[in-house]
Amino acid sequence: ERLARPAAPTGAGALADGTSIPLLANLGSADAAADAVAKGAEGVGLFRTEFLFLDAQSAPTVEAQQEQYTRLLAAFPGKKVVVRALDAGADKPLSFLNDSAEENPALGLRGLRALRANEQILRDQLTALANADAETEADLWVMAPMVSTVEETRYFTALGRELGLKTLGVMVEVPSAALLADRILADADFASIGTNDLTQYTLAADRLLGSVAALQDPWHPAVLRLVGEVGRAGQTLGKPVGVCGEAAADPLLAVVLVGLGVTTLSMSPAALSDVRAELLLHTLDEAKAFALTALAANSAFEARAAVLEAQAAQR
Ligand code: PEP
Ligand code: MG
Repeated sequence: ERLARPAAPTGAGALADGTSIPLLANLGSADAAADAVAKGAEGVGLFRTEFLFLDAQSAPTVEAQQEQYTRLLAAFPGKKVVVRALDAGADKPLSFLNDSAEENPALGLRGLRALRANEQILRDQLTALANADAETEADLWVMAPMVSTVEETRYFTALGRELGLKTLGVMVEVPSAALLADRILADADFASIGTNDLTQYTLAADRLLGSVAALQDPWHPAVLRLVGEVGRAGQTLGKPVGVCGEAAADPLLAVVLVGLGVTTLSMSPAALSDVRAELLLHTLDEAKAFALTALAANSAFEARAAVLEAQAAQR
């Protein structure tokens, strides 16, 4: 007989067998840091820098960015903080980076592609981050959004190192990156899976379009298979693999993701306590069994139902 879910536990994320699963926060501003710390975030798994500049008409200066990044990093001394380079385009256009005339902006010059086409903006951002890192005690990791090739991974990690950053990774949110995760992780220090976009691109269903919302479900076994590819590559190469999409905030799906080889979970701070509680109810072996159950399903609906049933059988 298992105990009922403990009420809003605090403390570091861990499975029932003691396996550590750090629970991190998704943030869009330095002002949100205090609330994340209060809710027990062990660091930041996704800092969405584009949110800082949604209204900007021109590219922010190094100094303006450095001030924001320093404030963020100062809130997490000794803790991991993963900052994402500007993810501009599609659902988050920035006037100084994107061409609004694209017919299919989700498939256009967005994320790292847009930064590469405007390399000085990327250089300024990475320089601001390196400067902020030098002034503070946090463990800064920097990642690129919307990476789809090994070559893009090499470009980003080489540029980041040139500009003085130490830990450089990529978001895996395009199926090609998940399928080649072993090669991508040979060059990157870590990967962070963005399940929102990975689901959109795997199911070919616009994440902003209500009429296809039923397809935008990260429980889909096709999405989980891709997550498993990345998890396996991370384990083989000894590189950390996080999830920072909405999937990490669904407590039972979070357990499945861990069973697929994911080593950290990042979510909006409000979701931390429920995910922390659910993880404590399962061992790594159980998480792996849940993952196999979900992978064997034919649909997102069946995957969720089958894992719920397996969970109920444990109690
Ligand atoms: C994602 O795509 O899952 C992600 C975390 O990035 P965003 O939602 O900002 O595109
Ligand atoms: Mg994304």
